[in-house]
Amino acid sequence: MLLLIPGPVQTRPELRQAAARDIAPWDNETRAMVRHVCRRILDLAGGITDQHAALPLQGSGHFLIEAAIRTFMPPGARILVPGTGEYATRIVRLAREAGRIPVALPVPQDRPVPPRAVAEALAADPTIGHVGLVVSETATGVLHDGAAVGQAVRAAGRRLILDVVSSFGAVPLDVAAQPELDAAVFTANKCLESLPGIGFAVAPVPRLLECAGNAGSWTLDLAEVYAHGLRSPGAFRFTPAIQAIAALDVALDLLAAEGGPSVRLARYRDNVRVLRAGLRALGLEPCIADDAQGPVVVNVHAPRHPAWDLQLFVDALKRRGVLISNFFSTVEPSFRVGCIGAVGPDDMARAVAAIGAALTEMGIGQRRAA
Ligand SMILES: *Cc1c(COP(=O)(O)O)cnc(C)c1O
Repeated sequence: MLLLIPGPVQTRPELRQAAARDIAPWDNETRAMVRHVCRRILDLAGGITDQHAALPLQGSGHFLIEAAIRTFMPPGARILVPGTGEYATRIVRLAREAGRIPVALPVPQDRPVPPRAVAEALAADPTIGHVGLVVSETATGVLHDGAAVGQAVRAAGRRLILDVVSSFGAVPLDVAAQPELDAAVFTANKCLESLPGIGFAVAPVPRLLECAGNAGSWTLDLAEVYAHGLRSPGAFRFTPAIQAIAALDVALDLLAAEGGPSVRLARYRDNVRVLRAGLRALGLEPCIADDAQGPVVVNVHAPRHPAWDLQLFVDALKRRGVLISNFFSTVEPSFRVGCIGAVGPDDMARAVAAIGAALTEMGIGQRRAA
């Protein structure tokens, strides 16, 4: 089965094999492996040893985002969230339910966030201490510029939290070049092309020390994760998804063998190009313009046809060996195809053929986009 969703992604068998065994998290060899993986993650993020830390946390992306909000923002503090789409809305909810105050910044969702809009909002409200930005907005497929927005945040003397969940491993990140950054958070199961269950925050050490006591949560306190790592290197406070970490070690080997994030990003962009050209040849229209389309997921307008039914379409595709999401997150009806994971342009061409055949089977010959 070809899995074309924006995470968890299709993975390579050699990393799944690394997870197919029993592992004791506290064992000294395991702890060395955990430390090794964290070091590799720190390098990949452009972190500097002793100035930055890569902090592992059990759970999915939401857990990491909430942990970053709780750790770096005291209760009642305000965070500006550009409204890029569904994942920005999730930052808003996570912040609110953690007792922090989200301030939504409406922006057009089909273009990258203009750094000037952020600068103006910060200038207008000196009570806002943080900005929370989704770099790859999975709901729309648009890629936002974390460095450019970060520059506006830095110029305003505020702090930044980056959701790089669906971009880290492909889209470059250099935390050392972004001193305004409190945390960049991500998981293993998107562009790192590994298994779900473990995520990371990369954060500056001085801030981790300064922010001890903010979290109001034992499980989601990154300052405590850091302190615990100093006391017991490579050990977790609570049972970790240790198989996911063992798999990630192999996934990082595979990323290095591929040539690193820039080569992976080029492969994803090729995937997107082949997919979009193929869809257009079928008479389908992507939701996002070519120049704003990111490398992670392509949303496609649902065919304007009475026989259109997303679940029936997903089922028909699945019978042809291609699995896509059975929901959409755009305002207008659409379907979405992930372009990340251990898949290449040939796979995308296969997917396009399957999409054409599925539509024909559904009796959708005339495919004018909605
Ligand atoms: C996948 C994703 C998340 C996290 O989702 P989980 O289901 O909690 O892993 C957060 N932000 C973005 C942009 C994502 O794509």
